[in-house]
Amino acid sequence: MLVILHPNCDESGADFIATQNYLQQLPGIEIREHIVQGQQQKLTELYLIGDTEKLSVEDIESLPAVERAFRISQEYRILGRHQDDDRSTGFEYNGVRFDQDNLNIFAGLCAVDNRKHVEIMMQAVQSHGLTCTRMGAYKPRTNPYSFQGHGATCLPYVFELAGRYGIKVIAMEITHEAHIEEIEKSLEQAGQPTGVMLQIGTRNTQNFELLKAIGRQKKHPVLLKRGFGITLNESLNAAEYLASEGNSNVIFCLRGMKTSFSSPHRNLVDFAQVPVIKRLTRMPVCIDPSHSVGSRDVSPDGIPDVFHATSQGIIAGANMVLVDFHPAPKKALVDGPQALLLNELEAFLEDARISRDAYEKRRANIQKLNTP
Ligand code: PEP
Ligand code: MN
Repeated sequence: MLVILHPNCDESGADFIATQNYLQQLPGIEIREHIVQGQQQKLTELYLIGDTEKLSVEDIESLPAVERAFRISQEYRILGRHQDDDRSTGFEYNGVRFDQDNLNIFAGLCAVDNRKHVEIMMQAVQSHGLTCTRMGAYKPRTNPYSFQGHGATCLPYVFELAGRYGIKVIAMEITHEAHIEEIEKSLEQAGQPTGVMLQIGTRNTQNFELLKAIGRQKKHPVLLKRGFGITLNESLNAAEYLASEGNSNVIFCLRGMKTSFSSPHRNLVDFAQVPVIKRLTRMPVCIDPSHSVGSRDVSPDGIPDVFHATSQGIIAGANMVLVDFHPAPKKALVDGPQALLLNELEAFLEDARISRDAYEKRRANIQKLNTP
């Protein structure tokens, strides 16, 4: 059962203490507290775990600190969408809103290669009115002899340039918990010019110790990629690991599934599951068309496959797009063949707007059907 306390509930106040005293004496019930710190208010959620069948929702709701209580399913306790659950689906980070109803585009470099390319990329992002980008500093590579990313050494110029070009959020993969501290130290030395969304790559979706470490910090939101060879349920449970450790500001990213049936695409595009994740959980859903498609191939209609896949995700209600661009893909150190060109950015964004508009029209159309 989930018990939501009144907003900004004072933990030293008489109401909170009386409520806790009552709940703590319930036999066979363990209480787990989860704090949701919003812009305006702090919400305290108490998860009652164990023998909750016999508990009465009405009794719990009559406790002085309680706003409301409802039964939840066993799965995805914190991030899940449960019956009678009308909690919000999003959060705000560094002035940018992320939820299940809006759309943010993160166009940027798969991997940081040099300062010049970072600057050209960020300049392009800013000139198209965007405030988010992707920049990989720590790269998990299949081949141990491949370029592994510049790591902490590139962070000073990446953050300095982000400040200069008005970038509010950078999605950046980390592969070890030590990278959290490196990023924080570098942000501090640069004077906090930008925000960082910590990305967990598909190779680490079930790296439980990494998930727990990232979940323990609440400063940065998390972008969790779906594992490329595990079930959706297993990947959603990985997201719940982050929340169970304290951080529920999680965005779930579809990036295609690894199977030989995907050929000639790099991965089998799974964007038809955008609405499924929104139905099962309250997480905003991201799509990564670049790592799904894996090439710059163009179909006979003149539209690149990456544009087509993006459109498929957005028209299904995606809330974020993570997409690779590069000023000179031939010189890119990682994933050059799938990077879009900067002169394609404007058309890409227009295509995304057309698709989003179509999604909103589809929503309005079905609402007519559902309104008596
Ligand atoms: C990436 O986004 O750079 C990346 C490595 O993606 P994935 O983990 O989905 O392969
Ligand atoms: Mn990549």
